[in-house]
Amino acid sequence: MADTRLTRRGLLGGAAAGAAVAALPDAALARRRRRRTRRTEVVVIGAGLAGLTAARDLVRARHDVLVLEARDRVGGRTLNAPIGGGKVVEIGGQWIGPTQDRLSALARSLGIGTFKTYNTGSNIYLRRGVRTPYASDGPLGPIPPDPTGVADVAGALAELDRMAREVPLDAPWKAPKAKEWDSQTLETWKQAHTTTDAGRFLLDVSCQAVFAAEPRDLSLLFALFYIHSAGNERSPGTLERLTNTPGGAQESRFVGGSQLISIKLARKLGHRVLLDQPVRRISQDRHGVRVECDRLVVEAERAIVAMAPAMTRHIHYHPALPEQRAQLIQRYPNGSVIKCEAVYPEPFWRREGLTGQAVGDADPVRVTFDNSPPDGSPGVMLGFIEGEQARKWGSRPAAERKAAVLRSFAAYFGDRMLSPTRYIEKNWTEDRWTRGCYEGYAPPGVLLDYGPAIRRPVGRVHWAGSETSPIWNGYMEGAVRSGERVAREVRAALRGRSRRSAAA
Ligand SMILES: Cc1cc2nc3c(=O)[nH]c(=O)nc-3n(C[C@H](O)[C@H](O)[C@H](O)COP(=O)(O)OP(=O)(O)OC[C@H]3O[C@@H](n4cnc5c(N)ncnc54)[C@H](O)[C@@H]3O)c2cc1C
Repeated sequence: MADTRLTRRGLLGGAAAGAAVAALPDAALARRRRRRTRRTEVVVIGAGLAGLTAARDLVRARHDVLVLEARDRVGGRTLNAPIGGGKVVEIGGQWIGPTQDRLSALARSLGIGTFKTYNTGSNIYLRRGVRTPYASDGPLGPIPPDPTGVADVAGALAELDRMAREVPLDAPWKAPKAKEWDSQTLETWKQAHTTTDAGRFLLDVSCQAVFAAEPRDLSLLFALFYIHSAGNERSPGTLERLTNTPGGAQESRFVGGSQLISIKLARKLGHRVLLDQPVRRISQDRHGVRVECDRLVVEAERAIVAMAPAMTRHIHYHPALPEQRAQLIQRYPNGSVIKCEAVYPEPFWRREGLTGQAVGDADPVRVTFDNSPPDGSPGVMLGFIEGEQARKWGSRPAAERKAAVLRSFAAYFGDRMLSPTRYIEKNWTEDRWTRGCYEGYAPPGVLLDYGPAIRRPVGRVHWAGSETSPIWNGYMEGAVRSGERVAREVRAALRGRSRRSAAA
């Protein structure tokens, strides 16, 4: 059985002192006095895939590393939930697809296999009460061939793919039309380049499914960068690859759930990973960097902050961050998503010739997948509440939301969906150490004026996290690549120091 939580029993942490301290008259002062100080060469903040990959590479290069993680678990935006019988479903990031080479290599190195997302049979398209099965391997992949909008949406997708190739991945702000494209939203472009209601609806659903945000939220330049980024050095990304199951970003899942990658990585790092250590403050001078948690201070030569840009705002920096970085992180929000899964004794939709994939307007769930374990037992139906729907439903009572989700499932797959044996959901927007998913995105004007600050180190502080990756930005692949990149960056900085001290 895959253990879903690597708790503070497994790794060093120790929150036990918290309750007693809270009772003291000046708790903050008392805590400060009791803080331990540790020294290391590199301190990594965040034990998601980016931070753990960076730590692995630095340790391999024989550097001293400590990883500080706020939560009592590793994995960040990946999280397994047990569903009985030693099986899990993923309630965070889960799929891996073609061209996601670094994630694939990492999983292989840890002995974690993959299996294909169930995709046999027909998908369902439901619009305005009309339910239409359609071939899952049609020309538009998972995008339904709605007769009134198919030509419209196909033309728009082809045009977006064409424009995306003009956006340089390592510097989107240098695209020939960067200013024009970063001065409008994807919505503005959609209104000008689609004509049918169905075409617009399908573009909206694609945007919500990929970004957990609305077309009105996103800079067109950012959307184009993101599309281009969904590929590797040999095969540039397309919107189709982002939305497809076979041949796309939803092609496969990890046996044991995606969080297992971080759990296994952290086990290898052992005592270097410290849980329950929310970092509050990072200060630096020419001698080093000092990272403060509630009960621990770490002094190091370099710090790596490995999380979404929006989360880096919750840390206090001394000296204050440079203007560009400070303003970038005020302007780079995370998307809004609630991931909902209902468990049934078996995936009965399979016997009806259905893949379990649906696209439609049976709100709040507009996109579904069969998320059953590799052996197909029990049956798990996955639905996403995304963008505007997540903003609306996030504040509703849990029971009301669950009933609405099951009604959506029933509209797509029939009334048997109303009686699951178990229901699991996670609202990533209310999670205090993530505050929204799937990833950070740039509204208009941000890439153009602040984009270069996304990866630029600030003195001894280096930035990682999926949002810093030119390739598969926002995905687990991007997180792994960002960890590898930042490890190289820090190693180069440390080599520079050795050369300087040898010369002195
Ligand atoms: C519902 C959902 C579905 C997704 N689906 C997919 C998918 O199918 N495929 C895919 O590739 N990607 C998917 N993603 C995105 C993917 O999960 C992320 O891109 C990736 O996991 C990000 O990794 P990261 O290391 O960059 O950041 P994170 O995983 O966010 O790691 C950051 C870490 O920093 C910690 N932290 C934050 N603040 C502090 C602090 N002050 N002090 C100490 N620690 C701190 C956090 O607790 C966290 O552990 C999905 C995400 C979600 C939520």
